[in-house]
Amino acid sequence: MSPSPSTTVDLLIVGAGPAGLALANWFRDTDITVLLVDKKPGPTPRGQAEGLKSTTNEIFDSYGIGPQITAESWRLEEIACWGMRKDGAEGIVREQVIPDRVEELGKPRETMLQQSRVEHHMLQNILPHNNIEIRYNTIPVAVEVDIACGHEADAYPVTVWLKKVNNDATTLNGHATNGINGHESNGQMNNDQNGHYTNGTDTNEDHTFKERVSAKYIVGCDGARSWLRKQLNVILEGDLTDSVFGVVDMVPKSNFPDIRRVCYLRAASGTILLVPRSNREVRMYIPVESGTALPDPKDLTFDRIMDATRKIIAPYTMDVGSVSWWSAYRVRQRVGNYFSRLNERAFLVGDTVHTHSPKAGQGMNTSIQDAYNLGWKLRLALEGQVRSPSARQDLLRTYESERRPVALDLIAFDKGFLKLFAAPSARFDTEILQALKFTTGLSIRYPPSCAVQLPKGVEQLGPSLLKADLVPGKRLPDFRAVYQADGVPTWMHKRLSATGQFRVVIFAGDITDPARLERLLVVGRYLGENESLKHLTMTRPGKQPLVEVLVVHCADRDQVDFLALPEVYRPWSEESGYDYCRVFADVESVHDGHGRAYERLEIDPAVGCMVVVRPDGYIGAVLDVDDVDGVRTYFERNSL
Ligand code: FAD
Repeated sequence: MSPSPSTTVDLLIVGAGPAGLALANWFRDTDITVLLVDKKPGPTPRGQAEGLKSTTNEIFDSYGIGPQITAESWRLEEIACWGMRKDGAEGIVREQVIPDRVEELGKPRETMLQQSRVEHHMLQNILPHNNIEIRYNTIPVAVEVDIACGHEADAYPVTVWLKKVNNDATTLNGHATNGINGHESNGQMNNDQNGHYTNGTDTNEDHTFKERVSAKYIVGCDGARSWLRKQLNVILEGDLTDSVFGVVDMVPKSNFPDIRRVCYLRAASGTILLVPRSNREVRMYIPVESGTALPDPKDLTFDRIMDATRKIIAPYTMDVGSVSWWSAYRVRQRVGNYFSRLNERAFLVGDTVHTHSPKAGQGMNTSIQDAYNLGWKLRLALEGQVRSPSARQDLLRTYESERRPVALDLIAFDKGFLKLFAAPSARFDTEILQALKFTTGLSIRYPPSCAVQLPKGVEQLGPSLLKADLVPGKRLPDFRAVYQADGVPTWMHKRLSATGQFRVVIFAGDITDPARLERLLVVGRYLGENESLKHLTMTRPGKQPLVEVLVVHCADRDQVDFLALPEVYRPWSEESGYDYCRVFADVESVHDGHGRAYERLEIDPAVGCMVVVRPDGYIGAVLDVDDVDGVRTYFERNSL
């Protein structure tokens, strides 16, 4: 009998869908070894999700794949609302057209791109990196976590047995796969009294035909029917709703005038949500009612969905050109009772811990955003950046404390959205606009923690801060500014690439004023020279600093002497000279107008402020412009 093959990796990710791929993208350009396994034979040929919110597009920008994704996506610009005719006659009438715009964003709210193309770009982005391996046709069959060594940075407490689902497993970056047999199990998690948690049927049996993987962390991104969730005894709380939907992606042949707009249609016989896609296709969501008896989605046929559609859209016609996909489903609205388990050695991400209706296009977005939230924390932990074990665990715990409330809010929103859709009210347009705001994620505010620190003396956020945008726990609102060195404009989130770095952004105001300039110089010298900060802020040969210090001023650029600024704002390296990409001006650009960052962020140029931005673009702290102690405290508290 030959021994089981074994592999050791830092991170094992189960599931290479949107969440798994988004998570893996955090580990490009690192020495962290990552293994992704997926039961599919290869990349997703066609997924269900479609809409990308601007926050998700900002994530793609930070991964360097924004331009490719934007180039392929279809923009949503207008929303039309149609209702029953007011004169009592049969048929529907356009009630209004609303611009699909959320002012605070300053850019398109949503774009449409097929899930498989989104996954394609994320996949292509990780393939060149040898530290990340993807294996298809592979499933985990048992997991064991030794929580006794839970705090040790160098321990590999997670053991997983993998098996191939068939014999032609695909690897995309040249690593062979092993293990060809065995059986899958959804057994219950047992505590064997020695701090060992085991699950699956056969960890004590012969593993000849399986591969044993040791890992520091395991993350389940394996979708709504998650295997790992069951192993971790995590329960989805919530219900099956009584909403049954048909969904169809097709090229319509129709004389309906708003077929290329997002369109909410409410007729006596039902409602439709229409969303334009690329390639002349539209997606249609049609709730299917059948009196008091709810249809089983399995009984819904394409013809039945189309019949319902034609009744609603009459007197306009709706013929089918070609159909690329259709389905029927009943909505489940459920959230996992835990998002992390076993001393933060095992995590659940995306659909594994939240399911809801797809109508607001939130599932893929939220899954990618979950992964984005967890990824930098795991990266910091695995790179050994967080020195104290308890601080490491505190940071990893914030994944659940930050993302579970988002999932709960999403379910609450989804319930309202489904009702709105099923029982149209007179306030349809205002409710849609509110819904648009919610789905952008602008209202997300993570609670105070080691990673989100409130201003000095503030125990909790009062109403004035809750309303504002520049608030600890909220995403740094994106804004445009120009580089001091060459006047080239950029959106800030494009500049904040996913390198695992924190940023301290100093909004220094008009630094042609000598007092403000002096303040900026003093702050810069402190951040670059203070004993507890310089190891974080200063560039060392071949090593990026963990904290980049950026300046956004609003002075006349010609009056600012770039080279006279302290080194922390314009570091020098033997290999590449000065870094010209850390100082920005909030001024008119040559071609793209004025970003008006100070105005948008409500920063008084005479006062300024300093913001600690986490690697995921969320605000860790908002400080007075010269509160260098506040910066030091933030990083000390995280043991960085
Ligand atoms: P999944 O996409 O389910 O990926 C899970 C991965 O894990 C898969 O690759 C699977 O093969 C793999 N896997 C599963 N089990 C195992 C195992 N045991 N071992 C190994 N691998 C495993 N969301 C939006 O944001 N916008 C939309 O417009 C939208 N429209 C939708 C329309 C419909 C009809 C539906 C049903 C959903 C829609 N969604 C939408 C939701 C979206 O599809 C999901 O929320 C999203 O795909 C979740 O991503 P995920 O990575 O968490 O899970």
